[in-house]
Amino acid sequence: MNFGYTDEEERFRQELAVFLDKHLTEEIARQNWEDKGVGPEAREFSRKLAAYGFLGMGWPEEYGGKGLPPAYDFILLDELGKRWGAHVPLDVGYTMVGHTILRRGSEAMKKEFLPKIVGGEIEFCLGYTEPNAGSDLAAMMMRAEDKGDHFLISGQKTFNTECHYADYHWLAARTDFSPQGTGYKGVSLFIVDMDAPGVTVRPLWTMSGERTNEVYYDEVKVPRERLVGEKNKGFYYMMEALGSERNQVFVPSRLRPVLNMLLAYAQETRYQDRPLSKDPVVRRQLARAAVELEVAEVVADHSRWLEALELPMTHQPEMTKVMVSELEQRLVNAGMRILGPYGQLEEGSPWAPLGGRIEWYYLHSFMTTIGAGTSEIGRNVIAQRGLGLPRG
Ligand SMILES: Cc1cc2nc3c(=O)[nH]c(=O)nc-3n(C[C@H](O)[C@H](O)[C@H](O)COP(=O)(O)OP(=O)(O)OC[C@H]3O[C@@H](n4cnc5c(N)ncnc54)[C@H](O)[C@@H]3O)c2cc1C
Repeated sequence: MNFGYTDEEERFRQELAVFLDKHLTEEIARQNWEDKGVGPEAREFSRKLAAYGFLGMGWPEEYGGKGLPPAYDFILLDELGKRWGAHVPLDVGYTMVGHTILRRGSEAMKKEFLPKIVGGEIEFCLGYTEPNAGSDLAAMMMRAEDKGDHFLISGQKTFNTECHYADYHWLAARTDFSPQGTGYKGVSLFIVDMDAPGVTVRPLWTMSGERTNEVYYDEVKVPRERLVGEKNKGFYYMMEALGSERNQVFVPSRLRPVLNMLLAYAQETRYQDRPLSKDPVVRRQLARAAVELEVAEVVADHSRWLEALELPMTHQPEMTKVMVSELEQRLVNAGMRILGPYGQLEEGSPWAPLGGRIEWYYLHSFMTTIGAGTSEIGRNVIAQRGLGLPRG
């Protein structure tokens, strides 16, 4: 059994670790934390990663990459996650959209977008969910009428995170209005400039103070060249990309900083005249979290290994998604119990233990089992594709 990365890949990890230890200063990490990952620091840092040659390892050379296996990007995500926690400074263009452009985009589209994605120069936001189409994405209503050299798009999206600062919207809209075009048939994918006339972005705030958005389209003219792949095939492209997206986004190492914070807190804090680290309940909770995190890493690595060897992925990325998002909730729940009543104090309060970060993670953790598909839907996918049970 060969379980691990090659020597060259491990060398890359070491070089990256040295770079991150030097350049990812306390100041950048703190600022990024205060801006909840959407401030200029995150973007600047991803450009720095590109300038030092750490972005694009797994991307083809003709589009600005290094033509190496995807394992390099997994290592990059792991190392960033370990240090940066929830807000890794890599755009959805890099982790999600770019792979579909590579597989399905025209040559002109690849040349226009991929080098800039790989260079950390542009950012995308995802436009899938609508007020009446979340889990049932195939019910989407946004209309993109084919006018020959352009499409005219109208409708509403909701929960489109990052759209208030992204350059481009990765948009799914309906292009077939015939009786045959219902459901997952008749959906197409587009790349839309966020500053195109007729696009309006309005904020929606989550309870952890993070911004997501409603996005309205009022007869927005989108050139035909911005249609991704074939018309009416968008839903297939979205599904095709799902496994790889889950492997890139649900990175267990992002939970390491939370566990480390709690371990340090238990070591440094005394309660009723003895260190918290000697309390059996605290020890049990931390040990359990450590075991679960290790298991999540193995589950995620298995799924990434399938992707790296281009073996079929069926339910494995979904297992990673469900496991990592639910583990985040269990871990921060344990954190809130370990911190006690003071744990409820917010960032900014002088009495908030660990700077209020566990309190923030606690509120943030609710969205992790909703965003990118809920746990209920995830379990349905595992039951159907992994266990061979009939459609629910
Ligand atoms: C903070 C945040 C950020 C997001 N960012 C983006 C983004 O950038 N781009 C984007 O396009 N979307 C984004 N989303 C949307 C996200 O993907 C959807 O919220 C999610 O898919 C659920 O859809 P919904 O909210 O419409 O819930 P619904 O689909 O209405 O589901 C409501 C409840 O019913 C359950 N349910 C629904 N159908 C079934 C079923 N068949 N079997 C069992 N249970 C079921 C669900 O699990 C859920 O508990 C974001 C969401 C959040 C909360």
